Amino acid sequence: MKDSTADNKKKSPVEAATPTNFIKQMIDEDIKAKKNEGRVHTRFPPEPNGYLHIGHAKSICLNFGLAKDYNGLCNLRYDDTDPSKETMEYVEAIKEDVRWLGFDWEDREYYASDYFEQLFEYALQLIKAGKAYVDSLSAEEIREYRGTLTQPGKNSPYRERSIEENLDLFERMRAGEFKDGEHVLRAKIDMASPNMIMRDPTLYRIKHVSHYRTGSMWCIYPMYDFTHCLSDSIEGITHSICTLEFEINRELYDWVLDRLDAYHPQQIEFARLNLSYTVLSKRKLIRLVQEGHVSGWDDPRMPTISGIRRRGYTPEAIRNFCERIGVAKADSMVDMALLEYCLREDLNKRAPRVMGVLRPLKVVIENYPQDKEEELEAINNPEDPSMGTRKVPFARVLYIEQDDFMEDPPKKFFRLAPGREVRLRYAFFITCVDVVKDPDSGQAIELRCTYDPKTRGGDAPDGRKVKATLHWVSAKHAISAEVRLYDHLFVKDNPNEVENGKDFTDYINPKSLELLKNCKLEPSLASASPESRFQFERLGYFCVDSKDSKAEAVVFNRTVTLRDTWAKILKSQQKKD
Ligand code: ATP
Ligand code: MG
Repeated sequence: MKDSTADNKKKSPVEAATPTNFIKQMIDEDIKAKKNEGRVHTRFPPEPNGYLHIGHAKSICLNFGLAKDYNGLCNLRYDDTDPSKETMEYVEAIKEDVRWLGFDWEDREYYASDYFEQLFEYALQLIKAGKAYVDSLSAEEIREYRGTLTQPGKNSPYRERSIEENLDLFERMRAGEFKDGEHVLRAKIDMASPNMIMRDPTLYRIKHVSHYRTGSMWCIYPMYDFTHCLSDSIEGITHSICTLEFEINRELYDWVLDRLDAYHPQQIEFARLNLSYTVLSKRKLIRLVQEGHVSGWDDPRMPTISGIRRRGYTPEAIRNFCERIGVAKADSMVDMALLEYCLREDLNKRAPRVMGVLRPLKVVIENYPQDKEEELEAINNPEDPSMGTRKVPFARVLYIEQDDFMEDPPKKFFRLAPGREVRLRYAFFITCVDVVKDPDSGQAIELRCTYDPKTRGGDAPDGRKVKATLHWVSAKHAISAEVRLYDHLFVKDNPNEVENGKDFTDYINPKSLELLKNCKLEPSLASASPESRFQFERLGYFCVDSKDSKAEAVVFNRTVTLRDTWAKILKSQQKKD
């Protein structure tokens, strides 16, 4: 079966201009003032030390979205100055994820590590201007000398080294004459600054570690604060957008560029995305992977782009989500239900409907001839008539969902029960006439039913009504499949808030994955391609697992249920207001 959600490679990422926000207002003013000749040039600057997560998606949508809205450009830049944690695997994964989200950096793929030589030159320039010095205190001493929020720091005894001595030591640091931690290069600013970041921040440290791109060329590596502003400057970035925690770093960003008289982009901070029932920090996500709490970075329970992609999310839904949450200056927690809402909204329009039974209960239609079979017409998507119809086979032996039958139904249960008539979707009315039970457990293992041939297609010519419509599959035509059901990875809405003595991993939901091994699906799904998405009627949206599904052993992930918890949340909020 063709999947209309699969091909999203070539579509334009942002269909319409995104709504306004405080960043756009700043850009509008810059354009009015003819700053940067009216140019808008942004960048997305990931460190290749892990896979991207949904928080990064917010930053990607924002940076690439602004470039698109203002007819500007957005670079992809790897902020790769910490060789101990960075790898090519992460570089490749990041590219794939950004592309999958629908964004294109064209030929502007940059690496901070490509600027190492230039950055070194800039450092020499600072030393020559008397604005940087080589310090030989130990890391611990540097910490002690820094002071506290309430107490000023004190100057290092090495702070007044001569320019010549500093130049000599810095060159020898580069040449590999010293061990890790023996010296650092520091900016000479103000050890009494109320902004702790400005108390002579470290610009370079010695690290005898091979870099995934520059190999053993360097044994000194520049720090983030020195690298980032200069990388932005080198690339001609106009608006350097980052998350709020860097607000206090802006003073240093500006200091470095001003002291070097370099082209000066504007740093702008926005609130990072926090999402309920998950963690969005690479440090924590790495632990989930390394400690085996999940099967990998792309485990469908992970909030990584590769995880939610494998789970069945569409790039359109993620982009729409990022637009809806907007850009603000204050941190907040976004409800996971909103992300799921955006997904349902998208899949409802595009995902073909099919029938599948997750926990099968055998049904034999006693008055249906033994060898007969027929094909019934089913609608592929009631939301989109252009998606047409398909044929579903019907025969004497069928499967329905176990919980669509109750032997002794309570008042509000309208589905199948002994003596009761229900509709099989797109097929016939059936009536349960007998129940075959397992002699040991007493559980129903087979239902004996009759059907009314006059109700073909699902309506009774005499106008008789039934109270339930069930999904079903023909036993001999169905394919068997494994289906994986997911729940939140954490039981706590904010697993970042840990009680005393606990770790965030203590809040992992032990029931976040449920494996169903013997599901029965309509035969059209035998040819479904990896990552294609469907609505299993009454059960939710599902997608073919891109890693584990094989022609002979099909595996589906449940992307999301049909229940709209977001609408419920909104309703209860409206009631409160
Ligand atoms: P983490 O906190 O997950 O380790 P990071 O900030 O260290 O993330 P980077 O690779 O440095 O990860 O991030 C690249 C860009 O994505 C940065 O500009 C960063 O501000 C942004 N970003 C990271 N996390 C979020 C988030 N939760 N919401 C919005 N933007 C984010
Ligand atoms: Mg970072």
